[in-house]
Amino acid sequence: MGNNVLVIVEQRDNILKKVALEMLGIGAELATALGGSVEAALLGSNLGDLPTVLAQYGATQVYVADNPDLARYSSEGYTNTLAAFIGKVAPAIILIGATAMGKDLAPRLAARLGVGVASDCTALEIEDGRLVAIRPVFAGKALAKVKLHGDPQIATLRPNVLAAPQPDTSATATIEPVAAASGDVRAQVVDIVGAGEGVIDVAEADIIVSGGRGVAGPEGFAPVTSLAKTLGAAVGASRAAVDAGWIEHAHQVGQTGKTVTPNLYIACGISGAIQHLAGMKTSKVIVAVNKDPEAPIFKVADYGIVGDLFDVVPLLDKEFQTLLAE
Ligand SMILES: Cc1cc2nc3c(=O)[nH]c(=O)nc-3n(C[C@H](O)[C@H](O)[C@H](O)COP(=O)(O)OP(=O)(O)OC[C@H]3O[C@@H](n4cnc5c(N)ncnc54)[C@H](O)[C@@H]3O)c2cc1C
Repeated sequence: MGNNVLVIVEQRDNILKKVALEMLGIGAELATALGGSVEAALLGSNLGDLPTVLAQYGATQVYVADNPDLARYSSEGYTNTLAAFIGKVAPAIILIGATAMGKDLAPRLAARLGVGVASDCTALEIEDGRLVAIRPVFAGKALAKVKLHGDPQIATLRPNVLAAPQPDTSATATIEPVAAASGDVRAQVVDIVGAGEGVIDVAEADIIVSGGRGVAGPEGFAPVTSLAKTLGAAVGASRAAVDAGWIEHAHQVGQTGKTVTPNLYIACGISGAIQHLAGMKTSKVIVAVNKDPEAPIFKVADYGIVGDLFDVVPLLDKEFQTLLAE
Protein backbone atom coordinates (compact mmCIF):
# COMPACT_ATOMS: atom_id res chain seq x y z
CA MET A 1 0.00 0.00 0.00
CA GLY A 2 1.34 3.43 -0.95
CA ASN A 3 1.18 6.63 1.05
CA ASN A 4 -0.80 8.80 -1.36
CA VAL A 5 -4.30 10.20 -0.96
CA LEU A 6 -6.65 9.79 -3.94
CA VAL A 7 -9.53 12.26 -4.29
CA ILE A 8 -12.47 11.08 -6.41
CA VAL A 9 -13.55 14.28 -8.11
CA GLU A 10 -17.20 15.03 -8.77
CA GLN A 11 -18.28 17.20 -11.66
CA ARG A 12 -21.69 17.88 -13.13
CA ASP A 13 -21.83 19.13 -16.75
CA ASN A 14 -18.07 19.62 -16.46
CA ILE A 15 -18.37 22.03 -13.55
CA LEU A 16 -16.41 20.87 -10.51
CA LYS A 17 -18.31 20.42 -7.27
CA LYS A 18 -16.85 22.60 -4.50
CA VAL A 19 -16.33 19.56 -2.30
CA ALA A 20 -13.76 18.22 -4.80
CA LEU A 21 -11.55 21.23 -4.07
CA GLU A 22 -12.18 20.95 -0.32
CA MET A 23 -11.02 17.31 -0.50
CA LEU A 24 -7.86 18.32 -2.36
CA GLY A 25 -7.08 20.73 0.52
CA ILE A 26 -7.49 18.21 3.34
CA GLY A 27 -6.07 15.47 1.09
CA ALA A 28 -2.81 17.40 0.74
CA GLU A 29 -2.57 17.75 4.55
CA LEU A 30 -3.18 14.03 5.09
CA ALA A 31 -0.72 13.11 2.34
CA THR A 32 1.98 15.33 3.87
CA ALA A 33 1.49 13.58 7.21
CA LEU A 34 1.93 10.24 5.42
CA GLY A 35 4.95 11.41 3.38
CA GLY A 36 2.99 11.08 0.13
CA SER A 37 1.08 13.33 -2.23
CA VAL A 38 -2.52 14.08 -3.15
CA GLU A 39 -3.83 12.74 -6.42
CA ALA A 40 -7.17 13.07 -8.21
CA ALA A 41 -9.37 10.74 -10.23
CA LEU A 42 -11.61 12.54 -12.71
CA LEU A 43 -14.35 10.70 -14.62
CA GLY A 44 -16.61 12.13 -17.29
CA SER A 45 -16.76 13.07 -20.95
CA ASN A 46 -15.12 16.00 -22.79
CA LEU A 47 -13.45 17.09 -19.59
CA GLY A 48 -11.46 19.91 -21.23
CA ASP A 49 -9.12 21.74 -18.90
CA LEU A 50 -10.54 20.32 -15.63
CA PRO A 51 -7.33 18.30 -14.97
CA THR A 52 -5.33 21.57 -15.09
CA VAL A 53 -7.73 23.16 -12.60
CA LEU A 54 -7.27 20.19 -10.25
CA ALA A 55 -3.49 20.65 -10.49
CA GLN A 56 -3.90 24.28 -9.49
CA TYR A 57 -5.75 23.15 -6.38
CA GLY A 58 -2.96 20.80 -5.36
CA ALA A 59 -3.31 17.48 -7.23
CA THR A 60 0.15 16.25 -8.23
CA GLN A 61 -1.24 13.51 -10.46
CA VAL A 62 -4.61 13.41 -12.19
CA TYR A 63 -6.04 10.13 -13.49
CA VAL A 64 -8.51 10.98 -16.23
CA ALA A 65 -11.16 8.61 -17.56
CA ASP A 66 -12.68 10.68 -20.40
CA ASN A 67 -15.28 8.63 -22.21
CA PRO A 68 -18.85 9.24 -23.49
CA ASP A 69 -19.98 6.24 -21.39
CA LEU A 70 -19.01 8.21 -18.28
CA ALA A 71 -20.77 11.45 -19.27
CA ARG A 72 -23.43 10.78 -16.62
CA TYR A 73 -22.79 9.17 -13.29
CA SER A 74 -23.72 5.52 -13.20
CA SER A 75 -23.17 3.40 -10.09
CA GLU A 76 -21.62 0.48 -11.92
CA GLY A 77 -19.79 2.39 -14.67
CA TYR A 78 -17.99 4.59 -12.14
CA THR A 79 -17.35 1.76 -9.66
CA ASN A 80 -15.97 -0.53 -12.37
CA THR A 81 -13.71 2.16 -13.80
CA LEU A 82 -12.35 3.21 -10.41
CA ALA A 83 -11.89 -0.32 -9.05
CA ALA A 84 -9.95 -1.31 -12.18
CA PHE A 85 -7.22 1.29 -11.72
CA ILE A 86 -7.23 1.84 -7.95
CA GLY A 87 -5.70 -1.62 -7.50
CA LYS A 88 -2.72 -0.47 -9.57
CA VAL A 89 -2.17 2.94 -7.93
CA ALA A 90 -2.73 1.60 -4.39
CA PRO A 91 -3.60 4.80 -2.50
CA ALA A 92 -3.46 4.76 1.31
CA ILE A 93 -6.65 6.84 1.53
CA ILE A 94 -9.52 7.49 -0.87
CA LEU A 95 -11.68 10.59 -0.34
CA ILE A 96 -15.15 10.96 -1.85
CA GLY A 97 -17.66 13.81 -1.36
CA ALA A 98 -20.65 13.04 0.87
CA THR A 99 -22.98 14.17 -1.93
CA ALA A 100 -25.83 12.19 -3.52
CA MET A 101 -23.27 10.71 -5.93
CA GLY A 102 -20.68 10.01 -3.25
CA LYS A 103 -23.21 8.38 -0.95
CA ASP A 104 -23.99 5.94 -3.76
CA LEU A 105 -20.43 5.42 -4.96
CA ALA A 106 -18.41 5.12 -1.72
CA PRO A 107 -20.10 2.02 -0.23
CA ARG A 108 -20.10 0.28 -3.62
CA LEU A 109 -16.43 0.97 -4.14
CA ALA A 110 -15.61 -0.06 -0.57
CA ALA A 111 -17.51 -3.33 -0.98
CA ARG A 112 -15.74 -3.99 -4.29
CA LEU A 113 -12.36 -3.39 -2.66
CA GLY A 114 -13.34 -5.41 0.42
CA VAL A 115 -12.82 -2.54 2.87
CA GLY A 116 -14.93 -0.30 5.13
CA VAL A 117 -15.95 3.32 4.71
CA ALA A 118 -16.31 6.22 7.16
CA SER A 119 -19.19 8.30 5.81
CA ASP A 120 -20.15 11.99 6.08
CA CYS A 121 -17.00 13.03 7.95
CA THR A 122 -16.48 16.59 9.15
CA ALA A 123 -12.77 16.28 10.05
CA LEU A 124 -9.97 13.97 8.99
CA GLU A 125 -6.54 13.51 10.55
CA ILE A 126 -3.64 11.09 10.71
CA GLU A 127 -2.74 9.28 13.92
CA ASP A 128 0.12 6.77 13.99
CA GLY A 129 0.14 6.61 10.20
CA ARG A 130 -3.57 5.74 9.97
CA LEU A 131 -6.62 7.83 9.08
CA VAL A 132 -8.82 9.03 11.90
CA ALA A 133 -12.21 10.18 10.63
CA ILE A 134 -14.53 12.33 12.75
CA ARG A 135 -18.23 11.99 11.97
CA PRO A 136 -21.30 13.41 13.69
CA VAL A 137 -23.71 10.77 14.98
CA PHE A 138 -27.18 10.85 16.61
CA ALA A 139 -28.16 13.92 14.54
CA GLY A 140 -24.99 15.74 15.58
CA LYS A 141 -25.33 15.20 19.34
CA ALA A 142 -22.02 13.30 19.47
CA LEU A 143 -18.90 12.94 17.36
CA ALA A 144 -17.57 9.47 16.55
CA LYS A 145 -13.86 8.93 15.97
CA VAL A 146 -13.53 6.19 13.36
CA LYS A 147 -10.46 4.17 12.46
CA LEU A 148 -10.67 1.82 9.51
CA HIS A 149 -9.21 -1.65 9.21
CA GLY A 150 -7.82 -2.65 5.84
CA ASP A 151 -6.49 -0.66 2.93
CA PRO A 152 -7.28 1.57 1.20
CA GLN A 153 -9.06 3.59 3.89
CA ILE A 154 -12.15 5.25 2.38
CA ALA A 155 -13.92 8.29 3.80
CA THR A 156 -16.61 10.62 2.48
CA LEU A 157 -16.31 14.30 3.38
CA ARG A 158 -19.35 16.46 4.15
CA PRO A 159 -19.41 19.41 1.71
CA ASN A 160 -18.80 22.98 2.94
CA VAL A 161 -17.16 22.04 6.24
CA LEU A 162 -13.52 22.45 5.27
CA ALA A 163 -12.08 25.32 3.24
CA ALA A 164 -10.83 24.80 -0.31
CA PRO A 165 -7.15 25.75 -0.81
CA GLN A 166 -6.18 28.87 -2.74
CA PRO A 167 -5.37 27.94 -6.35
CA ASP A 168 -1.77 28.21 -7.56
CA THR A 169 -2.02 28.99 -11.27
CA SER A 170 1.59 27.92 -11.85
CA ALA A 171 1.09 24.42 -10.38
CA THR A 172 1.11 21.48 -12.78
CA ALA A 173 0.32 17.78 -12.47
CA THR A 174 1.09 14.60 -14.31
CA ILE A 175 -2.02 13.73 -16.26
CA GLU A 176 -2.57 10.05 -16.88
CA PRO A 177 -5.40 8.72 -19.05
CA VAL A 178 -7.30 5.80 -17.56
CA ALA A 179 -9.53 3.40 -19.51
CA ALA A 180 -13.27 3.50 -18.86
CA ALA A 181 -14.14 0.03 -17.67
CA SER A 182 -17.90 0.37 -17.75
CA GLY A 183 -18.23 -3.43 -17.97
CA ASP A 184 -21.53 -4.91 -17.02
CA VAL A 185 -23.75 -1.88 -16.42
CA ARG A 186 -27.20 -3.10 -15.38
CA ALA A 187 -28.74 0.27 -14.55
CA GLN A 188 -28.18 3.41 -16.56
CA VAL A 189 -29.17 7.02 -15.88
CA VAL A 190 -31.20 8.02 -18.93
CA ASP A 191 -32.04 11.56 -17.94
CA ILE A 192 -31.33 14.09 -15.22
CA VAL A 193 -34.15 16.53 -14.67
CA GLY A 194 -32.88 19.76 -13.11
CA ALA A 195 -34.66 21.41 -10.20
CA GLY A 196 -35.85 24.04 -12.66
CA GLU A 197 -34.43 26.88 -14.70
CA GLY A 198 -32.17 29.07 -12.57
CA VAL A 199 -32.59 27.07 -9.34
CA ILE A 200 -29.28 27.18 -7.49
CA ASP A 201 -28.20 24.42 -5.09
CA VAL A 202 -27.74 25.86 -1.57
CA ALA A 203 -24.62 23.71 -1.10
CA GLU A 204 -22.91 25.41 -4.07
CA ALA A 205 -24.25 28.96 -3.66
CA ASP A 206 -22.31 32.15 -2.89
CA ILE A 207 -25.41 33.90 -1.58
CA ILE A 208 -28.40 32.27 0.16
CA VAL A 209 -31.71 33.85 1.14
CA SER A 210 -33.52 31.54 3.56
CA GLY A 211 -37.05 31.47 4.87
CA GLY A 212 -38.33 29.93 8.10
CA ARG A 213 -41.63 29.46 9.90
CA GLY A 214 -41.97 33.25 9.81
CA VAL A 215 -42.92 33.13 6.11
CA ALA A 216 -46.14 31.50 7.35
CA GLY A 217 -46.97 29.39 4.28
CA PRO A 218 -45.76 28.36 0.82
CA GLU A 219 -46.87 31.66 -0.69
CA GLY A 220 -44.83 33.46 2.00
CA PHE A 221 -41.69 32.30 0.20
CA ALA A 222 -42.52 34.70 -2.68
CA PRO A 223 -40.61 37.73 -1.29
CA VAL A 224 -37.71 35.44 -0.23
CA THR A 225 -37.53 33.89 -3.70
CA SER A 226 -37.78 37.28 -5.36
CA LEU A 227 -34.88 38.68 -3.29
CA ALA A 228 -32.86 35.53 -4.08
CA LYS A 229 -33.51 36.05 -7.80
CA THR A 230 -32.39 39.67 -7.61
CA LEU A 231 -29.15 38.65 -5.89
CA GLY A 232 -28.52 35.54 -8.02
CA ALA A 233 -28.85 33.58 -4.80
CA ALA A 234 -30.10 30.15 -3.78
CA VAL A 235 -33.26 29.82 -1.68
CA GLY A 236 -32.68 28.13 1.67
CA ALA A 237 -35.13 27.07 4.37
CA SER A 238 -35.34 26.04 7.99
CA ARG A 239 -36.60 22.59 8.89
CA ALA A 240 -39.82 24.10 10.21
CA ALA A 241 -40.63 25.41 6.71
CA VAL A 242 -39.66 22.10 5.11
CA ASP A 243 -41.61 19.98 7.63
CA ALA A 244 -44.66 22.15 7.02
CA GLY A 245 -44.41 21.20 3.33
CA TRP A 246 -43.88 24.78 2.15
CA ILE A 247 -40.62 23.99 0.31
CA GLU A 248 -38.65 20.87 -0.67
CA HIS A 249 -36.10 19.24 1.61
CA ALA A 250 -33.30 19.96 -0.92
CA HIS A 251 -33.45 23.59 0.32
CA GLN A 252 -33.07 22.73 4.03
CA VAL A 253 -30.07 24.19 5.81
CA GLY A 254 -28.88 22.72 9.09
CA GLN A 255 -27.92 19.62 10.92
CA THR A 256 -30.32 17.36 9.05
CA GLY A 257 -30.17 19.49 5.91
CA LYS A 258 -27.18 20.91 4.09
CA THR A 259 -24.13 22.59 5.56
CA VAL A 260 -23.43 25.86 3.77
CA THR A 261 -20.68 28.49 3.84
CA PRO A 262 -21.80 31.23 1.46
CA ASN A 263 -20.35 34.75 1.43
CA LEU A 264 -23.77 36.10 2.37
CA TYR A 265 -26.61 34.35 4.25
CA ILE A 266 -29.88 36.22 4.73
CA ALA A 267 -32.19 34.52 7.25
CA CYS A 268 -35.80 35.66 7.06
CA GLY A 269 -38.23 34.62 9.81
CA ILE A 270 -35.80 32.04 11.21
CA SER A 271 -35.31 31.94 14.99
CA GLY A 272 -31.77 30.53 14.96
CA ALA A 273 -32.15 27.14 16.67
CA ILE A 274 -28.81 25.37 17.20
CA GLN A 275 -29.70 22.76 14.59
CA HIS A 276 -30.15 25.53 11.99
CA LEU A 277 -27.02 27.39 13.12
CA ALA A 278 -25.03 24.13 12.80
CA GLY A 279 -25.54 24.33 9.05
CA MET A 280 -24.87 28.02 8.38
CA LYS A 281 -22.97 29.74 11.20
CA THR A 282 -19.70 29.67 9.26
CA SER A 283 -21.24 31.84 6.50
CA LYS A 284 -19.01 34.89 5.98
CA VAL A 285 -21.69 37.55 6.46
CA ILE A 286 -25.01 36.76 8.14
CA VAL A 287 -28.03 39.05 7.91
CA ALA A 288 -31.12 38.29 9.98
CA VAL A 289 -34.62 39.68 9.52
CA ASN A 290 -36.87 38.81 12.45
CA LYS A 291 -39.66 40.60 14.28
CA ASP A 292 -38.49 39.30 17.67
CA PRO A 293 -35.49 41.32 18.93
CA GLU A 294 -34.65 38.44 21.31
CA ALA A 295 -34.41 35.81 18.52
CA PRO A 296 -31.15 33.82 18.93
CA ILE A 297 -30.30 34.32 15.23
CA PHE A 298 -29.26 37.90 16.14
CA LYS A 299 -26.40 36.48 18.28
CA VAL A 300 -24.67 35.12 15.15
CA ALA A 301 -25.82 37.84 12.74
CA ASP A 302 -23.40 40.50 11.47
CA TYR A 303 -26.39 42.68 10.54
CA GLY A 304 -29.80 42.37 12.16
CA ILE A 305 -33.07 43.96 11.11
CA VAL A 306 -35.88 43.82 13.66
CA GLY A 307 -39.08 43.95 11.66
CA ASP A 308 -41.73 42.11 9.74
CA LEU A 309 -40.14 40.21 6.87
CA PHE A 310 -43.10 41.01 4.63
CA ASP A 311 -42.19 44.71 4.96
CA VAL A 312 -38.41 44.41 5.12
CA VAL A 313 -37.63 41.80 2.44
CA PRO A 314 -39.48 43.60 -0.40
CA LEU A 315 -37.69 46.84 0.60
CA LEU A 316 -34.31 45.09 0.49
CA ASP A 317 -35.26 43.56 -2.85
CA LYS A 318 -36.20 46.95 -4.31
CA GLU A 319 -33.02 48.56 -2.98
CA PHE A 320 -30.78 45.79 -4.36
CA GLN A 321 -32.53 45.96 -7.73
CA THR A 322 -31.76 49.68 -7.90
CA LEU A 323 -28.15 49.23 -6.74
CA LEU A 324 -27.45 46.32 -9.08
CA ALA A 325 -28.95 48.14 -12.05
CA GLU A 326 -26.49 51.04 -11.62
C1 LIG B 1 -32.52 16.25 15.55
C2 LIG B 1 -32.97 17.58 15.01
C3 LIG B 1 -32.45 18.02 13.80
C4 LIG B 1 -32.84 19.26 13.30
N1 LIG B 1 -32.33 19.71 12.09
C5 LIG B 1 -32.65 20.93 11.64
C6 LIG B 1 -32.08 21.43 10.44
O1 LIG B 1 -31.33 20.76 9.73
N2 LIG B 1 -32.41 22.70 10.06
C7 LIG B 1 -33.26 23.49 10.79
O2 LIG B 1 -33.52 24.62 10.37
N3 LIG B 1 -33.82 23.02 11.92
C8 LIG B 1 -33.56 21.76 12.35
N4 LIG B 1 -34.16 21.29 13.47
C9 LIG B 1 -35.29 22.06 14.05
C10 LIG B 1 -34.89 23.22 14.92
O3 LIG B 1 -34.73 22.77 16.25
C11 LIG B 1 -35.97 24.31 14.89
O4 LIG B 1 -37.20 23.73 15.27
C12 LIG B 1 -36.15 24.97 13.53
O5 LIG B 1 -34.90 25.38 13.02
C13 LIG B 1 -37.06 26.17 13.68
O6 LIG B 1 -37.29 26.73 12.44
P1 LIG B 1 -37.65 28.29 12.33
O7 LIG B 1 -36.55 29.10 12.87
O8 LIG B 1 -38.07 28.51 10.92
O9 LIG B 1 -38.98 28.37 13.20
P2 LIG B 1 -39.24 29.07 14.62
O10 LIG B 1 -38.26 28.61 15.63
O11 LIG B 1 -40.68 28.89 14.90
O12 LIG B 1 -38.91 30.58 14.33
C14 LIG B 1 -39.67 31.41 13.51
C15 LIG B 1 -39.13 32.81 13.68
O13 LIG B 1 -39.76 33.65 12.75
C16 LIG B 1 -40.00 34.89 13.39
N5 LIG B 1 -41.12 35.51 12.67
C17 LIG B 1 -42.41 35.10 12.65
N6 LIG B 1 -43.12 35.86 11.81
C18 LIG B 1 -42.27 36.78 11.31
C19 LIG B 1 -42.41 37.86 10.39
N7 LIG B 1 -43.58 38.12 9.78
N8 LIG B 1 -41.32 38.61 10.11
C20 LIG B 1 -40.14 38.36 10.70
N9 LIG B 1 -39.93 37.35 11.56
C21 LIG B 1 -40.99 36.56 11.86
C22 LIG B 1 -40.27 34.57 14.82
O14 LIG B 1 -39.97 35.69 15.65
C23 LIG B 1 -39.33 33.40 15.06
O15 LIG B 1 -38.07 33.84 15.56
C24 LIG B 1 -33.78 20.05 14.01
C25 LIG B 1 -34.26 19.59 15.23
C26 LIG B 1 -33.88 18.38 15.73
C27 LIG B 1 -34.42 17.93 17.05
